Amino acid sequence: MRLLLVEDDAMIGETVLQVLRAEHYAVDWVRDGHMADEALRSEHYDLVLLDLGLPQRDGLEVLRALRARRDTTPVLVATARDAVGDRIAGLDAGADDYVVKPYDTDEMLARIRALLRRSAGRAEPAFEHKGVSLNPATREASLNGQPVTLSAREWAVLEPLLARPGVVLSRAQLEEKLFSWKDDVSSNAVEVYIHGVRKKLGNDIIQTVRGLGYLVPKQ
Ligand code: CA
Repeated sequence: MRLLLVEDDAMIGETVLQVLRAEHYAVDWVRDGHMADEALRSEHYDLVLLDLGLPQRDGLEVLRALRARRDTTPVLVATARDAVGDRIAGLDAGADDYVVKPYDTDEMLARIRALLRRSAGRAEPAFEHKGVSLNPATREASLNGQPVTLSAREWAVLEPLLARPGVVLSRAQLEEKLFSWKDDVSSNAVEVYIHGVRKKLGNDIIQTVRGLGYLVPKQ
């Protein structure tokens, strides 16, 4: 899953970045509203964590512009603890949820998981398909009830495919889930991690669709 972190405070931003990366999200971090706007126009993110008080362009403006483009990317806004007005303005401008600062990181991570779940059209916390189960909250994977250990990147390629059986994702789309801007990506990285997933969960779990990409079969 690829996240955009928009935070102008260097210390807070660094801390949140470390917390998100420790959860294996691919994260891009920008520090002002203009950069946030640019990033949202050029890249696809699974979720945006958006501070409202930003230099250049404030967070509400960035959010309104995003929704005006009919972009449905889930947005979690961050506001000061006593700023009820900001939370209301954020939600009314198209945010899906909010967190208050200073961040309680466990609560922030739980809200992120909830939004990612909802945006994938799920109510239940774990993905279950064809005997494979992935629980993003506990990072536990299993095959027919038997625990399986997936690496962070194997998980990162499997999760978006398992979230929508029958939907093809291209190699480029899977790379987006795996890496942020600054990472060097070898040309066969996605293939390597898919190979790893197949070794652990069986060859049939992910099918190659020649010339298009990969999918988890519906049946
Ligand atoms: Ca700020």
